[in-house]
Amino acid sequence: MKFIDEFRDPQAVKTLITQIGTALKGVDPSRQPLQIMEVCGGHTHAIFRFGLDKLLPEGIEFVHGPGCPVCVLPRGRIDDAVTLARQPGTLLCSYGDAVRVPGDLGSLLDAKAAGADVRIVYSPLDALALAKQNPDKQVVFFAIGFETTAPATALTLRQARQQGVENFSVLCHHITIGPPLRAILDDPGVRLDGLVAPGHVSMVVGQSPYQFIVEEYRKPVVIAGFEPIDFLTALLGVVRQIADGRAEVENAYKRAVQSAGNAVALRAMAEVFTLAPKSDWRGLGAIDQSGLMLSDAFAEFDAERRFGLKPTQVAEPEGCGCAQVLRGQLRPADCPLFGKACTPSAPVGALMVSSEGACAAYYQYRSPQ
Ligand code: SF4
Repeated sequence: MKFIDEFRDPQAVKTLITQIGTALKGVDPSRQPLQIMEVCGGHTHAIFRFGLDKLLPEGIEFVHGPGCPVCVLPRGRIDDAVTLARQPGTLLCSYGDAVRVPGDLGSLLDAKAAGADVRIVYSPLDALALAKQNPDKQVVFFAIGFETTAPATALTLRQARQQGVENFSVLCHHITIGPPLRAILDDPGVRLDGLVAPGHVSMVVGQSPYQFIVEEYRKPVVIAGFEPIDFLTALLGVVRQIADGRAEVENAYKRAVQSAGNAVALRAMAEVFTLAPKSDWRGLGAIDQSGLMLSDAFAEFDAERRFGLKPTQVAEPEGCGCAQVLRGQLRPADCPLFGKACTPSAPVGALMVSSEGACAAYYQYRSPQ
């Protein structure tokens, strides 16, 4: 298939693997295995799906990063959504993965099974359409995701205001990519030698949000796409920088990512959102200015304000290793719940819910089942 096969070409993969092995020879052996974080869950999935970690030479270990929005969704936020969904006259909608994540009150799918009107949508525009089709209901879109999905929410809210759709609101849990990376880099228990940065987010934000990593932490960052050639090219860039003693932001996904990002999307986000003082992250705790809330100009569409919702905070279930996996301190299979109490059909933690979650990817491609 055009635009796919060329990025999965076995010969090109072999060549890149050889080049990575050669570059590794230039890295001080005492630093090996290098700890390389693939920030994005899409990359985690690609590593396991294509068996890239098995092909690579010894000397590289992957740390699965926080770039899967479902995986970092805190349990308390799920409870907030379930609380709203249970209110009579409410129709709550969100993306497919988000409705499966369990909180203390169960998941949104559990709420649906108990009678709440919960719908899966593919975009916030679908949610807006539901609001227009159901004028007798309060339609709440549970908006999750990094800067990848935030522009679509912003453009939908613009439309809702232009069209005067008064029964539509957003429970906003959009988050930003820089602050969690800083939190992980500041953790003395975490060692990272370099990062492969997410292609999707970078299409919107460009290269600048990673600049602090090279300037303040002296770690190389290379932006990657999601096919094997994309990922291995970025990994080669990271290893070569480490071997050369460089720390720069490089873009190995130039066919999709502009260095300044997407100006239209960034403008829409700046108009509709503002940085929240603090946001909760599963496994990382509360991080200052890491999430987005609706700006005062769009406050009328804020579900929290409309329904007087007070954000809930909930501890992780006993034995859950999500926090350590998200910090690269535990391999998925070493969580005591992995494959026993926690499976894709009955997930305890969010890392088992999304196909981009490290535990789900590990379970699907690695465990004997
Ligand atoms: Fe979390 Fe389940 Fe993975 Fe354990 S196995 S880290 S509980 S998702």
